[in-house]
Amino acid sequence: MTTLRDILAAGTPSFSFEFFPPRTDAGTRTLWQAIRRIEPLAPTFVSVTYGAGGSSRDRTIEVTQRIAAETTLRPVAHLTAVGHSTAELRRIIGQYADAGVRDVLALRGDPPGDPNAPWTPHPDGFTHAHELVSLVRELGDFSVGVAAFPERHPRSPDWESDIRHFVAKCRAGADYAITQMFFDAEDYLRLRDRVAAAGCDTPIIPEIMPATDVRQISRFAELSHATFPAPLARRLDAARDDPAAGHRIGVEYATAMADRLLAEGAPGLHYITLNRSTATLEIHQNIQNSRSAHVLAAAR
Ligand code: FAD
Repeated sequence: MTTLRDILAAGTPSFSFEFFPPRTDAGTRTLWQAIRRIEPLAPTFVSVTYGAGGSSRDRTIEVTQRIAAETTLRPVAHLTAVGHSTAELRRIIGQYADAGVRDVLALRGDPPGDPNAPWTPHPDGFTHAHELVSLVRELGDFSVGVAAFPERHPRSPDWESDIRHFVAKCRAGADYAITQMFFDAEDYLRLRDRVAAAGCDTPIIPEIMPATDVRQISRFAELSHATFPAPLARRLDAARDDPAAGHRIGVEYATAMADRLLAEGAPGLHYITLNRSTATLEIHQNIQNSRSAHVLAAAR
């Protein structure tokens, strides 16, 4: 199968959508409605996040396998080293291979419960993502992705070590990286320049999070340590009790940022859907329209 690195190298921007494993039957129905609305667009891939522990992990595996079996989509399975021995990780990767899933986003993960608690590796497991990248590579013909952090990983003491470790996991065999959410295109561009200056050409796909609800986005930004711009926060706050206005503001902001990122040469866009398709599909449609307008203008 063509690797995502090859697809990204071909020059046409990729677009992809991220889902999480639902907890309830109603959540499963919502997820599958979103998947079925996105499928006809033929995205480059869709990804499913890996839970912090227990049954949500089984649901990640189930959803990813079902996407591989029942849709035309290319599923990327997120996998973390949290709480797993190397033997368990081998077994999960084997399950994916058996189901025809050939794409893994290899992550270290965070401590379950409190993501800011001290990181303790499993006694028979891995300490950092580069070890998981090497394992996935060793186990078969997988395309492997890793995480990137436009505002630096929150545990990195400085940029120098952050970039050094990022480059090391790319060199361990990553085909591409996907960023943490961010709300200022400059953060992405600076990260990309730092990685390039370190001699690494792994494509870094920016993650696009539609910020449509001030309460929800503040919580996500806090969890991910992403800086939420004050002017956007003020606009969303003013629309706190008007969901339609919040939606418009979030879609407009994300569209403008995504447009800028592509104009600056980002290799694609990875949309967080929260298992709902409406906002991300609007942003995607806006981007397609603006790209067509650029092509037409250039042809005149
Ligand atoms: P690492 O690359 O191991 O980095 C973690 C820290 O260790 C960094 O500060 C790094 O600089 C440092 N480091 C790396 N290597 C070394 C070394 N050799 N020596 C010393 N220090 C080192 N979490 C989930 O639980 N499930 C998900 O599905 C999930 N999906 C994600 C998707 C994306 C796109 C992103 C950006 C994050 C995702 N996360 C997910 C969160 C991620 O697991 C956490 O952010 C985690 O803290 C870092 O994971 P990592 O793979 O970047 O770790």
